[in-house]
Amino acid sequence: MIDLRSDTVTRPRKGMLAAMAAAQVGDDVWGDDPTVLRLQATVAERTGKEAGLFLPTGTQSNLAALMAHCGRGDEYIVGQAAHAYRDEGGGAAVLGSIQPQPIENAADGSLPLDKIAAAIKPVDIHYARTRLLALENTTGGKVLPAGYVAEATQLARERGLATHLDGARVCNAAVASKLSLAALCAPFDSVSMCFSKGLGAPVGSVLVGSKAVIEAARRWRKMLGGGMRQSGVLAAACLYALEHNFERLAEDHDNAACLAEGLAQIDQVKVLSHATNMVFAQFPQQHCAPLEAWLRERGILTQVLYGSRFVTHLDVSRADIGVFVNAVKQYFAR
Ligand SMILES: *Cc1c(COP(=O)(O)O)cnc(C)c1O
Repeated sequence: MIDLRSDTVTRPRKGMLAAMAAAQVGDDVWGDDPTVLRLQATVAERTGKEAGLFLPTGTQSNLAALMAHCGRGDEYIVGQAAHAYRDEGGGAAVLGSIQPQPIENAADGSLPLDKIAAAIKPVDIHYARTRLLALENTTGGKVLPAGYVAEATQLARERGLATHLDGARVCNAAVASKLSLAALCAPFDSVSMCFSKGLGAPVGSVLVGSKAVIEAARRWRKMLGGGMRQSGVLAAACLYALEHNFERLAEDHDNAACLAEGLAQIDQVKVLSHATNMVFAQFPQQHCAPLEAWLRERGILTQVLYGSRFVTHLDVSRADIGVFVNAVKQYFAR
């Protein structure tokens, strides 16, 4: 199958599985797993932060970070379209007693500075205490403009807010912008990074930040059920992914550009945007379900909606892009 639904669908191959099988392990809740410790130290170093923490998912990593920065009755400013607001089950509110203050994202994924400033509440017993600004990079595949990130985080600091980056795909941002992970992470107090997306590991996220933030997050991780034991077998996959699958993200970006070009040649398809490893396109409503079924019969897994997302990754080759674009062409040519 050619699976274009998400970059989470990659499966570990021989080299990664061998690294997992060979991993030295211990009990990570006791701080004894050498492979987890090595992953945490490696990611902290690459991102220019003091410390790192290995967590099972990006959702838990974002939540542990929010809970490390904010207490009960505090508030975080976040994008209306952000994963850490929209796609995490309301965890900050439900489990953290933290109130989200969502702001409409601009077309480039940023949160307009004037809207951030207006959302920061004065100190007054009527209001939740605004404590944190959370941004996302990449967001909808788009790399946040570096100048914007500098301005937004400076505004946050001036107003006494901490800053968190949901960097689930910060590696895509680094490769696409040719900036180091350290440069992209420098403006933030904490960054959460996923290994189960484009990097191709089966499981795992790392949260990085100051020692104090990471120690607080470690307590929350345990409470949230993320204290794993011989998790070095998973951390080994993440270390392997960082070493072998980072630079090659450029191929995914090229493949997404190729996919966008291919779809753009089809009259019935409107390409809305493409950036890094994602393409967004619109299909006539009446063709969505039949086209999705047509593609599935040809071994292609997608979600064809009025506004569809196609994601390239390690398990999608340039030839696969050709197969997909041709299948869509054939459907409309009948
Ligand atoms: C995938 C993703 C996460 C975390 O998702 P998990 O499935 O919990 O690992 C967080 N933020 C963004 C932007 C993501 O795409």
